[in-house]
Amino acid sequence: MTQTTQASLDTESFLAALVRSSNDAIIGKTVGGTVVFWNEAAERLYGYTAKEMVGRQITVLVPPHRAGEFPDLMSQVLSGETVRNFETERLRKDGSLVAVSLTVTPVVGLDGAVLGMSTIAHDLTRHNRQMLDLREAHRLADETLSTLQTLHGSAPVGLGFVDRDFRVVHLNEVLAAVNGSTVEEQIGRTVEESVPEMWPEIEPVFQRVLQNDEAMMNVEISGERAAEPGHQRHWLASYYPVHVGSEIIGVGIVAVDITERRRAEDFRTAVVNNMAEGLITVDAAGRLTSMNRAATKMLGWTEEELLGKEMAKFILAQGNGEESVEEGNAELLKVRSAGQTVHLDNHAYLCKNGFALPVAITASPLISGTSAEGAVVVFRDITEERSERLRVQRELAALTWVGRIREALDEDRLVLFSQPIVPLRGGRPSEELLLRMEGRNGELIGPDAFLGVAEKYGLITEIDQWVVRQAIALAATGRHVGANLSAESIVTIDLLTLIDHELQQTGADPSNLVFEITETSLMRDIDKGHAFARGVVDLGCGIALDDFGTGFGTFTHVKKLAIKYLKIDIEFVRGLTGSSANQHVVKAIVNLAQGFGCETIAEGVEDEETLALLREYGVDFAQGYHLGRPAPLETSSLPGR
Ligand code: C2E
Ligand code: CA
Ligand code: CA
Repeated sequence: MTQTTQASLDTESFLAALVRSSNDAIIGKTVGGTVVFWNEAAERLYGYTAKEMVGRQITVLVPPHRAGEFPDLMSQVLSGETVRNFETERLRKDGSLVAVSLTVTPVVGLDGAVLGMSTIAHDLTRHNRQMLDLREAHRLADETLSTLQTLHGSAPVGLGFVDRDFRVVHLNEVLAAVNGSTVEEQIGRTVEESVPEMWPEIEPVFQRVLQNDEAMMNVEISGERAAEPGHQRHWLASYYPVHVGSEIIGVGIVAVDITERRRAEDFRTAVVNNMAEGLITVDAAGRLTSMNRAATKMLGWTEEELLGKEMAKFILAQGNGEESVEEGNAELLKVRSAGQTVHLDNHAYLCKNGFALPVAITASPLISGTSAEGAVVVFRDITEERSERLRVQRELAALTWVGRIREALDEDRLVLFSQPIVPLRGGRPSEELLLRMEGRNGELIGPDAFLGVAEKYGLITEIDQWVVRQAIALAATGRHVGANLSAESIVTIDLLTLIDHELQQTGADPSNLVFEITETSLMRDIDKGHAFARGVVDLGCGIALDDFGTGFGTFTHVKKLAIKYLKIDIEFVRGLTGSSANQHVVKAIVNLAQGFGCETIAEGVEDEETLALLREYGVDFAQGYHLGRPAPLETSSLPGR
């Protein structure tokens, strides 16, 4: 502004402009309180236009509760004083209150008399609000700053920033520790200088962030820290492009040390893979999501083969007749949908090779939040447990049989059937005595059903003694009978004395008696077996070697003991016509018998053709359904019955 233009400005218009542009309300009034001047700021502050207010009493602005202070203010000004920064409230046109600070100056005439007054009203609300806003902004900034500093310093997260030349601009202590030295040592150095071992892994990531302007999240980085050689550590790092305006100025780094987490994961994996139980996880749809080593080993499927496939379609199998596939499925569904833990004790999984593996399974829901996201199935092979269980069951069944046999013995419900032994080349016909047990309801029970149990639980000797007495009684009636004896009795009791005693008692002809013993019975205790056989022969009875050909074929027995008959086992006789091998065996046995001076009895002759062949081969006797089935003895001929 030059001197000349300033001079051309008249004071009046200068003042007018000032008044107009003022932010504070400027009001002129008479000593009587009539408004004579009202600027734009006054219009804004009080809501009245100049037109509305000029000529009006200023008291319209005074709210009733401030009316008391007004006369004082007036008289002070009228006495020629200026009242400064008088804080009070005024009424707006819309009826609301506004806090104002008033400076009221008397307008004095040349004679010194007060002609009117001017008021400058400053809006305190706005001022306060601005002050508050400013203070709040400061506070927020402080807070944010200190939060950031705290985070930067103490969060268990590595934070850092490197410029476009990969020079470390700043980093916190955590990231410095990750890199293996202090903050001071690293700032200003390049990342390559700070962590040369890790640089090859990090560089491409930095390059990508800068070139593509994109963040790289959760990059796993492993390495050893200089401070801790030999200890592999793992970090999960994210890299962000940092902008100023549209320009990328560097890369921000956030790194979390996940070494412990990784160790926990490795530990879990090791446990899962080393546990003896199979472990399978499925998702909510029943699709396989993982399986451990034991599961692979037991089922034959690898994880890769079944991943994402519906487990039920591959490995769920029939539950051993106790639980069906559907039931098994339903159970597993319960786990997934209802979130229940389910135990199946007697289930089976289908292996890759098609075999069903007996398993016990426990399936628990995998809960995430509140809903079941799938299930964890733990199972173990119960093959052994099951065979053990079956063994116990059999044992129990056997014990029931023990009771039954005991009862049958006590209640005299053992019976002998007789099957004819027919001479083929002349000689005496005879019969084999075959044992039956009469059940409680009169049903007949064959020896195969109860002799095993009787042998195992020490009842066989009693049975054999009973048979011996019956056989001798029959022999005493003149019948030529063969009685079966078990190895157990031959070895454990003194049957010879019994036989001798019974022969004496009944006066039976010993030559009417043949005792059938298997080769294996003789082998069980050779000394006792041989002694028995010799004793029997000494008493004048005969010995037949039962089931001949199925044992070890030790001809020594035949040679050493005066065996009377070789009973050719049913195995070689049945189907004789169709098997040249069997024909050879039969012919060989016949030859052998002739060589040792004993006779042959063929068991199990079921048809005429077989009989014809046997005759042709020179077999001495035949026994079998074709010649006569085992039938009840005419008990009338037996004493004591
Ligand atoms: P085992 O001494 O070899 O008796 C022959 C078995 O063959 C008998 O069975 C008889 O019924 C059956 N048999 C006879 N002819 C034929 C035929 O043409 N075809 C077929 N398929 N089978 C035929 P069982 O009576 O069931 O006796 C089984 C076994 O029980 C006997 O075999 C014997 O070892 C034992 N046993 C029978 N009675 C006594 C006994 O009083 N005391 C002892 N300790 N054991 C006996
Ligand atoms: Ca027999
Ligand atoms: Ca036999």
